[in-house]
Amino acid sequence: MKSAGRSGRPRERGFDDEGLVVECATVTSMCRRVCGILGARLARARPPRLRARPVIARKPAPASVAVAVVCDFDGTATVLDIGDEISKHFGGLPQWEAESARFRRGELDTRGIIEAIYARVTANEAEIRAFAAERARLRPGFAELVAACRDRGAPFLVASGGLRQYIEAVLDAHLEPALRAHVQVRANEARFSSGAGGLRVAFPGEATSRELGCSTCGSCKRVAVRDLREAGAVQVIGLGDGFADRCLAQFADRVFARTGSYLQRHCEASRIAHTPFETLHAAAEAVAAYR
Ligand SMILES: [Mg+2]
Repeated sequence: MKSAGRSGRPRERGFDDEGLVVECATVTSMCRRVCGILGARLARARPPRLRARPVIARKPAPASVAVAVVCDFDGTATVLDIGDEISKHFGGLPQWEAESARFRRGELDTRGIIEAIYARVTANEAEIRAFAAERARLRPGFAELVAACRDRGAPFLVASGGLRQYIEAVLDAHLEPALRAHVQVRANEARFSSGAGGLRVAFPGEATSRELGCSTCGSCKRVAVRDLREAGAVQVIGLGDGFADRCLAQFADRVFARTGSYLQRHCEASRIAHTPFETLHAAAEAVAAYR
């Protein structure tokens, strides 16, 4: 078959060995013979087909949000440390005191103390959820903080070394549904057992924590900060009180540390700028004021 090229010179079309259409810019008698032979051969063999172009999947860029919040649960979102309360109530005060002392002496890391305090807890999930919901009180200003995030479309993430099951029970019981729906929970998982060895803890964030450089927290809060940044957060506010919040304080853009807590002492000793708090109202105002 023939067509005119840009130069006006005749062009010749045929089929190559893969059945693709080829076009010759300079047509000679040799070309015509070759193309004619190929065309006749391929016409007998199979119809021409088009080669598929490789498709490069592109991630859409995340829409940026001015601010996002990562909030510790025990002793920050709540007044009491509910994990400790569960351990003392169901596992016995002596066990909790002995393991806490080992942690203070540096014999257990964050992952180790989380596992140790539940080792004698043989209660089932329903018992633990009911106990947590009854014992817990949300810290004043917590609902206002969640509402401030929701009102401006800022993500709100509870990141905790505690157990997802009791955290969700407390949030479900004490936060109105419209606010509860805005709270995401990142926490460890309880594996309940009535047998020897008691409640076991699974650490779903452990592999990612190690990838990001932390091998002591089990599920490190730096993962939550990283994920929020990747989702488009320009500024991440971190709130906490305990040993496991050191990594959060290190990676967040702004830190709120409960007055008199381990985290506040750590921030002072490490010269990390922070805002002390007893209620969460100031954090709620800070979220609303971000531009
Ligand atoms: Mg805490």
